[in-house]
Amino acid sequence: MAVIKQDDLIQSVADALQYISYYHPVDFIQAVHEAYEREESKAAKDAIAQILINSRMCATGHRPICQDTGIVTVFVKIGMNVSWEGATMSLDDMINQGVRQAYNLPENVLRASILADPAGKRTNTKDNTPAVIHYQMVPGDTVEIDVAAKGGGSENKSKMAMLNPSDSIVDWVLKTVPTMGAGWCPPGMLGIGIGGTAEKAAVMAKESLMDSIDIHELRARGPQNRVEELRLEIMDKVNALGIGAQGLGGLTTVLDIKIKDYPTHAASLPVCMIPNCAATRHAHFTLDGTGPAVLKAPPMDAYPDITWEVGDGVRRVNLDTLTPEDVQTWKSGETVLLSGKMLTGRDAAHKRMVDMLNKGEELPVDLKGRFIYYVGPVDPVREEVVGPAGPTTATRMDKFTRQILDQTGLLGMIGKAERGPIAIEAIKDYKAAYLMAVGGAAYLVAQAIKKAEVVAFPELGMEAIYEFDVEDMPVTVAVDSRGESAHITGPAIWQKKIAESLAVEVK
Ligand code: SF4
Repeated sequence: MAVIKQDDLIQSVADALQYISYYHPVDFIQAVHEAYEREESKAAKDAIAQILINSRMCATGHRPICQDTGIVTVFVKIGMNVSWEGATMSLDDMINQGVRQAYNLPENVLRASILADPAGKRTNTKDNTPAVIHYQMVPGDTVEIDVAAKGGGSENKSKMAMLNPSDSIVDWVLKTVPTMGAGWCPPGMLGIGIGGTAEKAAVMAKESLMDSIDIHELRARGPQNRVEELRLEIMDKVNALGIGAQGLGGLTTVLDIKIKDYPTHAASLPVCMIPNCAATRHAHFTLDGTGPAVLKAPPMDAYPDITWEVGDGVRRVNLDTLTPEDVQTWKSGETVLLSGKMLTGRDAAHKRMVDMLNKGEELPVDLKGRFIYYVGPVDPVREEVVGPAGPTTATRMDKFTRQILDQTGLLGMIGKAERGPIAIEAIKDYKAAYLMAVGGAAYLVAQAIKKAEVVAFPELGMEAIYEFDVEDMPVTVAVDSRGESAHITGPAIWQKKIAESLAVEVK
């Protein structure tokens, strides 16, 4: 009978969370590299290059892959012969103590993103607790733990349906994936739970994402059951949608499709689909009573040596002297290097600003002629001016966009993924622009930030308004002043190209 020590469990959870904050799983790096090699869309290839360069930088710098260091999700399999001699905490409390330790580690502080009272005050718990924990009792005398840190952007795109038993799961996936936009930061994986009940399908979808990428092995050996057939069919058909990395249009949207299933009621076909993003983070360890788990760092040669050149045609923009007329010359899909000062603000800051505007109050910052970057950075450590600071999903700010453009004279916005119709209309009406940075390349983006200062709402923590001084920050014009969206044109072009090349293959 194995005796599991409380401190070993706490330390192992803390170490695993630190580990996954800066090391992608090796299978994920390999799959992204393969996608990079075969990608033909320049915009998508550039985005994948940034994801890979960021991954290598995080592995050497031991800083987070993404500014959103996730909500901790844990799957625990407790051997029925295990004993917890001397434990003073519940297993939930031990795991949460590990989370607390990991997220507040001074050498690599992670972002505390968890808010208590979600329907009310939404108060930050300050240490990223509590984790979402799933338990299973199994035969044996070990404790097996899967730890993941799931980004909010990809979690928000989870979808669920109670299909009719005769409905096609493939059709539902193909109808649903385009509605998820790019806020889940593709390329990534789709975890699908089929069967059971509504909540069982959701847990299976999440648990399926704990597995390694192995679709190529499956393709090579051939499917042996319906679930394996579905994995291959969904993978090929989703990639044929042409959505591509960051939704810019391209050959690879998904790197693998994971499916778990369970018997269900004769009247039911529950299906849940949860995407995993460019910051796929999970680790697995087993405690057998001999001490805390030791996770080996991936070898550095697992990281491809990729460089990313912006090329000659790139537009360099000085934000400090930029005029509305300059912005109107930008074209959707163009790469731009930004230098100068920008403000930041995301959900809570936008809500506050709009509330103040509605009351006729003066804002604490003057947005006229400025760009606002939708970001919630990680706190800095050592010599950093700011921690990893990649973009957050812009669509959450769509409902504020017209009022902010109208009442403040804001010139433009920077975020990740597409804008919805109401924001695109507002951008067009006010001849503004929306730029996108690569989601999941946060440490790389942060290298462009030379100064950072909180200028308003400091009580909002990572959601405060900062002023950043940036140098050559790479972005893409995602919506230009005419309202043309690279997230609409890019996937449409690549969907057509893929269909044409498949038609040629069939002939
Ligand atoms: S890669 Fe995108 S979805 Fe994933 S954690 Fe980062 S910002 Fe969120």
